[in-house]
Amino acid sequence: MKIKAAVMTGVGRPLEIQAVDLAPPKANEVLVKVEATGVCHSDLNALNDSTTPTPTILGHEGAGIVVEVGPNVTNVQVGDKVALNWVPYCGRCEFCVTGAVHLCESAFGPMFNGTLLDGTSRLSKDDNIIFHYSLLSTFAEYTVVPEMSCVKLPDEMPMAQASLIGCGVATGYGAAVNAAKVTPGSTVAVFGIGGVGVNAIQGARIAGAAKIIACDVKPANLEIAKKFGATHTVNVAKDNVEEALKELTGGFGVHFAIDCSGHTEATENAWKGTRKGGTVVVVGAFNPHKVLSLPAGGFHRVGKILRGSFYGDVQPFRDFPTIARLYLDGRFMLDELILNRLKLEEINQAFDAFHDCNCINVGRSIIEMPVKTDTQTMDDCEGFEFVS
Ligand SMILES: [Zn+2]
Ligand SMILES: [Zn+2]
Repeated sequence: MKIKAAVMTGVGRPLEIQAVDLAPPKANEVLVKVEATGVCHSDLNALNDSTTPTPTILGHEGAGIVVEVGPNVTNVQVGDKVALNWVPYCGRCEFCVTGAVHLCESAFGPMFNGTLLDGTSRLSKDDNIIFHYSLLSTFAEYTVVPEMSCVKLPDEMPMAQASLIGCGVATGYGAAVNAAKVTPGSTVAVFGIGGVGVNAIQGARIAGAAKIIACDVKPANLEIAKKFGATHTVNVAKDNVEEALKELTGGFGVHFAIDCSGHTEATENAWKGTRKGGTVVVVGAFNPHKVLSLPAGGFHRVGKILRGSFYGDVQPFRDFPTIARLYLDGRFMLDELILNRLKLEEINQAFDAFHDCNCINVGRSIIEMPVKTDTQTMDDCEGFEFVS
């Protein structure tokens, strides 16, 4: 079928709206009508990365409707509303069989090669290959994705909000709930208030933390953190973080610290501000050339845990519907993460917004591609032929 998509043609170039060919789903694959997709910083990183195979269709935060299933698909049916997960797991490896599905590496080879799981692409233009991105390629009207990327959500879930769940929301929520395992009545410090940090705050709030202390260098981010559930704030640029955290916790330090900042200095502060027996979870990706330094004296006596968390230790088939249900019950804020709503043709505006340093960094521009009804004309997609 011919579809309209925003195509990355080269490093750093604006995306081009093109008519491209999408082949039908093969075994264990699903054709999804993308209804909403968020534009994430990782898409910008891929756009500026010379190792990204091009041409490609970016986009890895999406939600839509299942319109066709390939052979052997049992997980979803035509008509299901799904949020997409960019780390489909195999279910068979050592990590999967021990429950750590977020550590499954089976998708990474195809992901970096720009294909689907079988090593081939469903996307082309004039018989030339177009690569997939993160197995999802959601900057398009339709996409073919692995069955294991499709997580069914309740029918009443709105699509723009659903599209957010599969990346920063799940990572932040999971960092607090799955990785740190925040307990009721506990104290939690969250470092780095961005698209992941505010959701770590929400996860800590839902897990019942008594005090949630947002730590960031920007006063504006600290104000935003309060809207999502932070009870206290520490300005890392001005305050002594260790002292501030201890002062807020009866001199002990916090039970849990979650570092979403990607800065080793923040993790070092998080470690110092965490009490004996506490847990520090690192979600942000460090600069690989940096070295993390922790005080060696007394290390064995404090019994603290320092651990990384990839994708918030997410179990997509459990956590995505849970987050959707929390949203529908008014307990998880997703509306506030939608900064603006654009058409696919306006997608470069979302990328331009990343370069505007005044832009608030905690939400997403959402590209919406609602289903066309019978009464609508095809004027807005002239030149595109829909053959399904
Ligand atoms: Zn993302
Ligand atoms: Zn696996």
